[in-house]
Amino acid sequence: MNQKIDVSFLSGDVVLDLKREDLLHPIISGNKFRKLKYTLAEVVGRSQKCMLTFGGAFSNHIAAVAAAGKLHKIHTIGIIRGEELTHVYKNNPTLRYAGEQGMELVFVSREQYALKDTPAFLTWLDDTYGDFYAVPEGGTNDLAIKGCTEILTPEDAQYDYICVCTGTGGTLAGIVCSLKEHQHAIGFSALKGTFQDEVVSKYTPKTNYTITDDYCFGGYAKVNTELIHFINTFKKEHGVGLDPVYTGKLLYGVFDLIKKDYFKKNSRILAVHTGGMQGVAGMNLSLKKKNLPQINI
Ligand SMILES: *Cc1c(COP(=O)(O)O)cnc(C)c1O
Repeated sequence: MNQKIDVSFLSGDVVLDLKREDLLHPIISGNKFRKLKYTLAEVVGRSQKCMLTFGGAFSNHIAAVAAAGKLHKIHTIGIIRGEELTHVYKNNPTLRYAGEQGMELVFVSREQYALKDTPAFLTWLDDTYGDFYAVPEGGTNDLAIKGCTEILTPEDAQYDYICVCTGTGGTLAGIVCSLKEHQHAIGFSALKGTFQDEVVSKYTPKTNYTITDDYCFGGYAKVNTELIHFINTFKKEHGVGLDPVYTGKLLYGVFDLIKKDYFKKNSRILAVHTGGMQGVAGMNLSLKKKNLPQINI
């Protein structure tokens, strides 16, 4: 569903719609739904009993895999960055939820986690956990890109710009794959750097896209009061919740570019709400600790 967002107070020249991928499922939401769809079909098709994946303490991907595993009766194992969480993980809403869905949580040190793609680590996983289907961190594999090519529908050909936040680059890659020639995609990096073009170019020769990290607010999961204020105002004015890691930064960026007349006159812009609202509770706990204002869910 594409929802009209009134931006007439920023510019009378453009139209902005928001693709509500967040409404696909409360936890397996947005792009994580798209990214897991074909992996799940393969796991179920192969009668594989176990899925293993990797993530940080607030990971939307971890929550989505845990929920999907429960739904499809597949055992899930989450290799979690941060040994210090072993005994206190229940204070973290994402990990508590994953545990409640039946995910087996394995906490490893940051040093070990950094080695997670090395042959030695994979051998250790094989020896310890046996037969499993491995899903990479963030869920970006070939099947995930295939799933993300289904985000844009034929009706979306009416838009001139497709704006989406980008982390590993998988979602952006799927969108660029399905882009029409007259369209341009903009990836708003949730972290410092615009390295996601390497992932995109692996999947498509198309070049009608740009990536910016101008709106990463200093890095992954970094927030300030201006961003929190923007998210809360957006919710009040437009009735849609945003998260501070991805979609809040995306909409902040899109609004700023509209204000700066970046888009061609009479452009139709589509921003993709990739979900991720499950992470807000955890972020609010850490904002509270820092005496910063909270995000209204
Ligand atoms: C994971 C995630 C992203 C980033 O997706 P990539 O495919 O890794 O680029 C964007 N938005 C939300 C809400 C996410 O959870």
